[in-house]
Amino acid sequence: MVKLDEAKDSPRTGDYIIEDNKVRLHASRCPSCGAVFYPRRNNCSADATSPLEEIALSSGGTVYTFTVARQSTPEFKTPYVLAYVDFKEDVRVLLPFDADEPPVIGAAVEIVMAAGPRITDGGLVSIPHARLQR
Ligand SMILES: [Zn+2]
Repeated sequence: MVKLDEAKDSPRTGDYIIEDNKVRLHASRCPSCGAVFYPRRNNCSADATSPLEEIALSSGGTVYTFTVARQSTPEFKTPYVLAYVDFKEDVRVLLPFDADEPPVIGAAVEIVMAAGPRITDGGLVSIPHARLQR
């Protein structure tokens, strides 16, 4: 596990960093009980400790489960897949899955940047996704 202040030379963009083309999500860890939270938060929900440490999660994990969305608003092309990914830092994160077909539960995934929903001016914004490890 790498604390964010140990990765000062990496480009930072909001809630993640990109190191060697690998995306690592920012999370919070309680220095008292070790609970990890994503998205980040200010207080531990288990013991109310504050402040929490800021950490970067691993650049991949395993699929806990997933769903395939077949209906949505016009901004989201269907079908799309959402997956819960378990990280070795003991936190589960819901992420868009970068494929039209669902993954297998337990599959190893990596975190990558991929096109998200369309924005109002017609452009695409890139956001973190899970995809099968290559
Ligand atoms: Zn705690």
